[in-house]
Amino acid sequence: MKNNSPKNKVSIKENFVTLVTGSNGLVGSALRQLNPQNTVFTVRQEVDLTNFSKSKSLFKKVKPNRVIHLAAVVAGIGGNMMHSGSFFRKNLMININVLESARLAGTKKLISFMSTCIFPDNAPYPLHEKNIHDGPPHPSNFGYAYAKRMLQVQSDAYRKEWNCNYIVAIPTNIYGPHDIFNLEEGHVVPSLIHKCYLAMKNRTPLEVWGSGKPLREFVYSEDIAKLSLWAVDNYEEDTPIIFSSGKEISIRDLVDLITKSMHFKGEIIFDSSKPDGQFRKPSDTSKLKKYLPNFEWTPVEKGIKKTVEWFLANYPNVRL
Ligand code: GDP
Repeated sequence: MKNNSPKNKVSIKENFVTLVTGSNGLVGSALRQLNPQNTVFTVRQEVDLTNFSKSKSLFKKVKPNRVIHLAAVVAGIGGNMMHSGSFFRKNLMININVLESARLAGTKKLISFMSTCIFPDNAPYPLHEKNIHDGPPHPSNFGYAYAKRMLQVQSDAYRKEWNCNYIVAIPTNIYGPHDIFNLEEGHVVPSLIHKCYLAMKNRTPLEVWGSGKPLREFVYSEDIAKLSLWAVDNYEEDTPIIFSSGKEISIRDLVDLITKSMHFKGEIIFDSSKPDGQFRKPSDTSKLKKYLPNFEWTPVEKGIKKTVEWFLANYPNVRL
């Protein structure tokens, strides 16, 4: 755990202690870069949040006024399909423990995170915050999705019984430095960056899963970190808020951006034996726009370039 020095202030209430769980992840690492005041960052290696007594001790020690709860077990479509049971169990335990520890420690404000993959498979487009419980999620990630949906249920139930101001954000596909660059279980951006690197090194084709046709809304981790800091001070509604630019791009166009950033000139194969997953999940961004009409999103071209540069500077010391 580390207390940050007060330089590079971001807009966060003074004299408040903020606890960030899951600080080694994508958004946690981006938050560290923003260097918010009086913030304690904790990581899995220090405190196992699936263990209630360890989670409770952490909160007793830090006594946070606010919590940015990022800790979760996450993966791309491959990992979600392989580990539906463990992802369900671990995410549920982490969330149950963290929200309850926060309540017992008197934490006034807590933000936690879901993802647009938790929406019902047949939800109307664009995906709207009010529809999260209206049907089963896509079969490729149902364990993770049901566990994550319970964050909203728990937050709402705590608000009703104990007046806890616990809010929930729904970011779309986050990417950026410090991601998990696992070839089989990572999300599409880090997996493809790593695959592209190996294809260049070994002079082999780049194998992309599926048809390349699915569409995703990619959001840069630093943007989500900034929005978390905004939301923990300013968002009070009992319904979740979607964090997205609302800009969809196809996996094929994403491949183009990655290969250009890496100067890959080899063959690209789309492997139709691998899953496409959900075809698209466009999100309704009107609620966020109402609050922050001028928020500047990092363009995906720039974000991919920065992520590739970070990967090349850090490989092989990246999370796998
Ligand atoms: P999702 O948005 O929850 O489905 O998360 P992913 O980050 O796993 O994105 C999956 C999409 O990217 C699917 O359409 C996949 O077919 C496509 N894709 C292409 N190549 C890869 C890859 O190497 N890894 C992953 N995870 N997805 C890939």
